[in-house]
Parts: sequence; structure tokens; C-alpha cells
Amino acid sequence: MPIRQDDNRPTRRFGLINLLLIGLGVLLLFSNFLPNNSMQQVPRVPYSLFIDQVNDDTVSRAYITQDQIRYELKEPPAEGAPTVLATTPIFDMDLPQRLEQHGVEFAAAPPQKPNFFTTLLSWVVPPLIFILVLQFFARRSGMGGGAQGALSFTKSKARVYVPDEESRVTFADVAGVDEAKTELTEIVDFLKKPERYAAIGARIPKGVLLVGPPGTGKTLLSKAVAGEAGVPFFIISGSEFVELFVGAGAARVRDLFEEAKKKAPCIIFIDELDAIGKSRSGSMGVVGGNDEREQTLNQLLTEMDGFSAQDKPVIVLAATNQPETLDAALLRPGRFDRQVLVDRPDLSGRRTILEIYAKKVKLAEGVDLDRIAQATAGFAGADLANLVNEAALLAARGYRTAVEQGDLNEAIERVVAGLEKKSRVLQPDEKKVVAYHEVGHAIVGHLMPGGSKVAKISIVPRGMSALGYTLQLPTEERFLNSKEDLEGQITTLLGGRSAEEVVFGEVTTGAANDLQRATDIAEQMVGTFGMSETLGPLAYDKQGGSRFLGGPSNPRRVVSDSTAQAIDKEVRGLVDRAHDRALSILHHNRELLETISQKILDKEVIEGDELKQLLASSTLPQEAALVA
Ligand code: ADP
Ligand code: MG
Ligand code: ZN
Repeated sequence: MPIRQDDNRPTRRFGLINLLLIGLGVLLLFSNFLPNNSMQQVPRVPYSLFIDQVNDDTVSRAYITQDQIRYELKEPPAEGAPTVLATTPIFDMDLPQRLEQHGVEFAAAPPQKPNFFTTLLSWVVPPLIFILVLQFFARRSGMGGGAQGALSFTKSKARVYVPDEESRVTFADVAGVDEAKTELTEIVDFLKKPERYAAIGARIPKGVLLVGPPGTGKTLLSKAVAGEAGVPFFIISGSEFVELFVGAGAARVRDLFEEAKKKAPCIIFIDELDAIGKSRSGSMGVVGGNDEREQTLNQLLTEMDGFSAQDKPVIVLAATNQPETLDAALLRPGRFDRQVLVDRPDLSGRRTILEIYAKKVKLAEGVDLDRIAQATAGFAGADLANLVNEAALLAARGYRTAVEQGDLNEAIERVVAGLEKKSRVLQPDEKKVVAYHEVGHAIVGHLMPGGSKVAKISIVPRGMSALGYTLQLPTEERFLNSKEDLEGQITTLLGGRSAEEVVFGEVTTGAANDLQRATDIAEQMVGTFGMSETLGPLAYDKQGGSRFLGGPSNPRRVVSDSTAQAIDKEVRGLVDRAHDRALSILHHNRELLETISQKILDKEVIEGDELKQLLASSTLPQEAALVA
């Protein structure tokens, strides 16, 4: 889509100032040379010669200035020799007396009058520098939008898209979010035929909030709404409102709505609404920047309440991944009263998204996108787009003419575990620890319930932190997990550390992330899912939490001290029992742990049928069984 900038860039003004400066520089040079020019070239002689000539009474007159003495001889010392000579003065208090004694007519230059140009410069240059500095800052503050003129801090920085035929985004470009699409189709209808709704007296919604994790297509969807309706689309990010200059955010909001009203019907899209819309009560105690944000927020609320032209609707779409932090005032009727959930796609959604992006690359015959879709549970749309691109890069690097299944498979791993870090080298003893750790995960994971199978073990370091990894692929799409599934997951997570204990009798720092995740799951089981028998089906964690960030560090409801202790004890119990289970499984399969670990130390990666056969000989000890 073409981006149109509504403001003229400051380049023209800047050029003018440059010209002025150059002109002044030239003048400065001239002003230095001018006085010298008036003096013609005269032969220079040593000062001592001058004094001699004065003493010999051959000098008729002298003209003395700060840096030169010019004098004329009564008669040329030789035929054709010059009579006018010059010398450089030295500090000589007796000179006037001497000249007088020898009857020389002498005069000194008048004191230097301040030169016109110097005066001009001293008046003009400092303000000029001042203006330049100011302009520099103005431009800096205008970065990103780029549409800032000098000293105009308030212009809205929204970029405007006007959808044209070739480049417009439509609903066909977005997949896997069908419910959101259905809801937004209605908005498209409002924008296309506002009269119809106005005739019945229906109130057109002003604000729609798109809620969902990053990369699920919120921005894309709102562009598609504009594209489908064929209306202009103003896009601005919440953080762009809140800036260096106090009051600028509010002014920007005002400007934005002003511009939008001129182009109505149209869409305003505010990305990262949470940057301005954070709950005011929730942010108490945070120092700095609050007033500014609050002003901006208030202005936004005022503007949203203000416009109500039924036949020329301006609809505000906003996106956030932290709806729970938003100020309640934003969610009231007449503001963002509609919320559309844009969640990560399910199996068939992933399949369609993969198709969209697979069309943009050359795909080899017989590539099975279904299998890729199955292996990418939890990927958002942006991850899938990235995945296809990564596969295409791999294919190109390998001089293949089309993207093959293997490229896609490897791309999954890259996206999951970060890019392969060839440069990182593990010490042999470290490698051994990583091997047993990962095989521990694999054996325990294989024996625990939970609808996924261990597909690969690798001790090739990847990305920033993963030294090795065990890839578990879900065998079916799951929305619900039983208590046993979750306990199985915790046990699997503890499998790595338990293997280190079983083999080396001590633990390393490598299990930190595992423990974090295990504890999180246990906490959620007790606090969110009501899976604890002693504590009952109560939700001790407040709803919402940071659902989309995956962090379960929800603030707890107000509970009594004894309940809090009981919760901690339950969580602890869950993790402890899982730890015991993992230990007993690994003791029971000690030989297998050894076999697979040795193998992986050789090969670095074990996967597919080989892994399946190896794991098939593992057995579950009685005491580690989870009653299903
Ligand atoms: P969000 O705004 O939710 O963080 P974006 O809309 O910016 O996500 O998505 C980033 C990119 O990922 C999009 O430009 C698009 O290429 C791809 N993408 C994300 N979700 C989808 C989807 N549901 N269908 C197709 N492409 C998607
Ligand atoms: Mg976005
Ligand atoms: Zn681990």
C-alpha cells in the first residue's frame, strides 16, 4: 500500500539555512582580506636596517600600524631601487623619540574600527546556531513518523494507507482466525453502508479492540478491514503518542481525529493500545511519564465520545496483547465496547496459513503441509510465515530449486529453538551432562501420558540458551488437559534434572528453565484449574493474569495466611511427587538411559524410527504410574 505523508519534510527550509551559512562564510573570508588588499606589495627589510636608515637620516616618513611599519626613503639607495619599504615592528618604546630626533615625519594607524561584517556575524551567527540546534531536536523527536516540520511537535504522526487495487489487503490474506473475521465483516458493512444502519437508528460501534498474542495477525486484520471496505486507514502505535514533550500526546490524538474526520468514513488503528491505555489505578507508584499518558488517554476518551456522525463513521480499531491491564474507562459502552479475540490458530487454521505462504515460494512435489501444521501447535501466524521463509532460505542455501519437506522440518526446529549456533562448542564433560539430561527428558516423556510423543533428541547447541533439546510433538490437537496430563508434563520437565542426579549424583544450572516451567504448571493446577483435592475447586489466582504472555504469575486473590501456606504446600507436593516419579523411572531404566546417552554422544541427534525403537524398550515402574 502506498504510504502518503501529509506533511512536507523540513528539507527545503534546511537547504535555505545552509545557503545562508555558506554566504556568511564567504563574507567572513572577505572581511579578513579586505584591509590587506588595500596595501600593495612592498619589499620587506629587517628591523635593524630600518633603524640604521633612520640613524643615517635617510628616512623621510613612516607609517606605523600594529603589524607593519611602512616607510619612505628620501632618495633611492641605488638606481631603480624602491623608495618605499616595510618592516615588522618589534616592541620598541624608544622608536617615537628616535624618529623625532632624526626628523622623520611619522603617523600611527587609527585604532581598529569594528568591521561591518564582524558586527553582522556576531549578531547573526549565535541565533542561527540556536535555530539549528532546535531544529535538530525537533527532527529527532519526529523520527519514525518522519513527517515533522521544524518546531511542530504536535502533528499527529499517523501513517495513512489508502487502499488501491493491487496492494490492498483483504480477508483472503488472513487465515485461521475465522471468528474474528466474522465479527469484523460486520464492521466492514458499517463502513460500506452506514446509511442503512443510520436509517434504523442503530448505533454504529466506535471502537473495536483486537485482543490476542503477538503475531496472530491483529495488524493484518485491521488492514484487511480497511481493504475490504475500501476506506482510508490511519495507523499509529500507542507508544508514538507518548513522547518527550509533555502535552504532545494529547495534541497528537486531537490532530489524528481531526484528520480522520476529514477523510471519513475511515479507520483509525491504534497498535499497542496498552502503551497509553494502562489502568490508572494499576500504575500507581510508577514514577514519571504518568501524567503525560493520562492526558493522552483522557484526550482519546474525549475524542471517542465526541464524534458521532452516523453517516460518516470513523471506527477506531485497537490492538493489545494485555487486555487485562487496560483502563476500565476504555472498555465502557461507546468506546471499545467490542472485543474480538484473535488467538493462535488451530490445526486447520495453521494449515490454511501455511498454504497462503507456501504459494509465495516454490514448493517441491509431494510436500505434506498437513504434517507441518501438525508439528507446529502453538505457532502464531507470524511464526508460520517466518517458518516458510526460513525453509525457502534453507533450500536456496542448499542449491535446491524448490522447498522440500526436509527444509520445512528443519525450519520448524529453527523457529522453535532458534538458529543453530555452530560456533558454540561444549566441553566434553558438559556435553555428557547435556546428553544424560536430554535423554532423561525423553525417557520420562515417553512413559508419561499427555498426547505427545518424543520425536527427537539433540545435543547440538541452538540459539542463545538451549544447549540441547528434546522435541515432543503432539499426536493430536488438544484443548483440554487432564490432571494426569499436567502431572505427566511436570514429571517430564523434571526428567532432565533427575537424570543428572541419577547419573552424576549432583545437579547443574542447566535445569533452571525446566524447573521454572514445572513450577508454573503446578501453580496453575492449584491456583487456576482447581485440581487440588485439599484446596478444592477454587480459583485462587485472579482471572486473566498475563494469559497471553504465558506467564502464570497471576496476582492471587486475597486469601488467608493459612490458605496461602496450603497453596504453597500443594504446589510443592505436586512438584516433589513428580520429581520422585521421574527418579524412579530413571532408576528403573538406568541401562536404557546409559545406552541412549552413549549413542547420542556419538551422533548428537537421534530421531525418527531409531528413537522410537530405543524408547520402546523402556518400562514404567509400578510406583511411578499415574492413575488415569
Ligand atoms: P500482530 O499485529 O497480531 O502482532 P501482525 O498482524 O503484525 O501480528 O502479523 C505479522 C505478520 O504475520 C503479518 O504481516 C502476516 O504476514 C503474518 N500473519 C500473522 N497472522 C496471520 C494470519 N492469521 N494469517 C496470515 N498471515 C498472518
Ligand atoms: Mg501488530
Ligand atoms: Zn531440560
